[in-house]
Amino acid sequence: MNAGLVVRNIGELWTTHHLPPVRGAAMNDVTVLKDAFIAVNNGLIVGFGSGSGDAFVGPVTEIRDACRMVLTPGLVDGHTHLVHAGSREHEFALKLQGVPYLEILKRGGGILSTVAATRAASFDELYDQARKSLLRMLAFGVTTVEAKSGYGLEPKSERKILKVIEKLNETQAVTLIPTAMGAHAIPAEYAFDREGYVATVLADLETIRLDGLAESVDVFCEAGVFTVSETKRILMRAKELGFAIRVHADEIVSTGGAGLAAELGCASADHLMAINDKDILALAGSDTVANLLPGTSFYLGHDYAPARRLIAANIAVGIASDYNPGSCPSENFQFTLQLAANQMKMTPSEVLTAATINPGYHLGKSDRIGSIAIGKDADFVLFDVPNFDYVLYHFGVNLVVDVYKKGRRVIADGRLVKE
Ligand SMILES: [Zn+2]
Repeated sequence: MNAGLVVRNIGELWTTHHLPPVRGAAMNDVTVLKDAFIAVNNGLIVGFGSGSGDAFVGPVTEIRDACRMVLTPGLVDGHTHLVHAGSREHEFALKLQGVPYLEILKRGGGILSTVAATRAASFDELYDQARKSLLRMLAFGVTTVEAKSGYGLEPKSERKILKVIEKLNETQAVTLIPTAMGAHAIPAEYAFDREGYVATVLADLETIRLDGLAESVDVFCEAGVFTVSETKRILMRAKELGFAIRVHADEIVSTGGAGLAAELGCASADHLMAINDKDILALAGSDTVANLLPGTSFYLGHDYAPARRLIAANIAVGIASDYNPGSCPSENFQFTLQLAANQMKMTPSEVLTAATINPGYHLGKSDRIGSIAIGKDADFVLFDVPNFDYVLYHFGVNLVVDVYKKGRRVIADGRLVKE
C-alpha cells in the first residue's frame, strides 16, 4: 500500500501493545522497535515496524528522515483545568511560609479568587489565555488534553468556559475532551446554603448534556469541599444522564472518594495522595484508572501518590499534569513524566503507559489514540534523545522536536507550524 507519508530512520519507536486499561505489571511491558518507520495515510497509521518501510512508499509518498530520534504516541494529558483567568503568584509567598491550601481557601483566596477573575473575564480573554497554554502543551508533545470547567461555579460562567473549550476544539490542533466541574468548590454566595448549590449543579447537568458541552462530570470530593454523599448524588445523576464520571479524591485527607469512584464505575479517580488500603483494594477490583498528578505534589510540597503500591495492587495508573493556576501552574507535561519517575519511582515503560494509553482509555478515546497501532490516529511525537529513559533523566527542558497530529506535522523543530 502507498502511504501519504513515511517517517523513517527512527532510532527507537516506543508504544504499548496491551488493550486498556493496562494494569499492574503489564504497564511495564511495552514494545520498543529499533531502526523503525511509521507510515501514515489520510491521518491514520497504516504501517509501522523495524526497517525503512519501503513497502509503503509510492511515487507521491512524502518521506521524512527522523535522524535517529525516539518516537512515542502523542502524549495524553488526562486532567487539566485549562480554562481560567488570571494567575496566583501572589499566593506563592503564603505557600512558601507554609500556609496550608485549605487555610488559603478559608481566607477567600485559592480557587475562589480564580473564580472571581474567571467570572469577570470575557469569552475572548479566556480563549486567548487558554489557547496560549494549549500551544505550549502541544510543543511539549501533548496531542490530547482533558479540560475541565469549574472556575465559573454558576451556570452562566460554567457555560462560558465549556464554550471556550468547544471553540478551541475547532480552531487548533490539540484535541480537547471537555469535563463539566461545577462541583469544584462551593461559591461564596452559597457558603451558608450548600444544599442550594448542589441543587444548582444537578439542574445544570441536564442543560449541559442537552447542549453536548461536556463528555464527563467531575466532583472535588475532599474535606471542606464536597462530602462523599454530595459527590455520590452528583455523580449518580451525571451517570444517569449518560456522562462519564470522575472524581478528585483523597488529595489531602482520605475521605473515601477513591472507594466511591470504584463503586460508581468512575472512568478515573484523581490525585489519591492520601488513599487508604481499603480503597486501593476497591480500585483494584474496578476498571477505574488511578490518575496521579505528581506536579501538584511537587508544587504544594505534599506527599506523592503511592504509585508503586497501586501498580503492585494491579491497578491501571495514569499520570496527568493537573495544570491549574493554584496548585500546578506549568504546561510542561514532560516534567510531570519526570516527576512520576523520579519521585513516584515509576519505570520508563510504566510512565509511557500512564501518559498515553491509560489516559486515552479513561477519556473514552483509546480506539483512536494512546498507542501506535494500525488504524489509529497518526498522533506521535519525536524526541531528540538516544532512548526514552533519557526523557525521564534530562529534566526541565523541552526534548520534543516534532509533533504530528492526525498525520500533520504541527510542531517542527520545536516550533508551531500549523494550528
Ligand atoms: Zn484537578
